[in-house]
Amino acid sequence: MNLVLMGLPGAGKGTQAEKIVEKYQIPHISTGDMFRQAIKDETKLGLEAKTYMDKGELVPDEVTVGIVRERLSKADCEKGFLLDGFPRTVPQAESLEQILDSLGKKLDYVINIDVEQSVLMERLTGRRICKSCGSTYHLVFNPPKQAGICDKCGGELYQRADDNADTVQNRLEVNTRQMQPLLDFYAEKGYLKNINGLQEIAKVFEDIEQLFAK
Ligand SMILES: [Zn+2]
Repeated sequence: MNLVLMGLPGAGKGTQAEKIVEKYQIPHISTGDMFRQAIKDETKLGLEAKTYMDKGELVPDEVTVGIVRERLSKADCEKGFLLDGFPRTVPQAESLEQILDSLGKKLDYVINIDVEQSVLMERLTGRRICKSCGSTYHLVFNPPKQAGICDKCGGELYQRADDNADTVQNRLEVNTRQMQPLLDFYAEKGYLKNINGLQEIAKVFEDIEQLFAK
């Protein structure tokens, strides 16, 4: 099964990725891991990517695409793969088509874990962290027994700057704007499957299993 997994921050992409790779025994290929491995292996492209990353610059597409090609050529991708974090743009998606073509593979599904923005806002802004022991809570999903106070140590709970409403809203808008053309691209190609991410984690995974069983 050759898969691309998509979803906005907070949609539960990471959780579903873990479940998919465990059940279907395919490698989870995330962009970050792929770069780290290529750098560790000191491949030509890995070292090239590193020079950009060290300068805090964006790695150019030709390097990223080359690293993806190397990764997808490895033996553990014979049975399939789950791509996560790549492609991010339509040109990258077009490059992926070419890579797969040249390897004699094709995508089976592009899965989008679909959750509306207002729900993502609630999920992403609800996190609270204990100042003393670092325990994490969530106002809705894992609230402390007493508001603002850590169950474990009595410490004060706070919200990280990254989790405040303006920052989260902005992050979601930027991600939506980036993702929409890709969703359109894959919908047109017939690969896109929207999975309702508003359900419980187990139910979301059931829907994915049902899709693959077809
Ligand atoms: Zn605490």
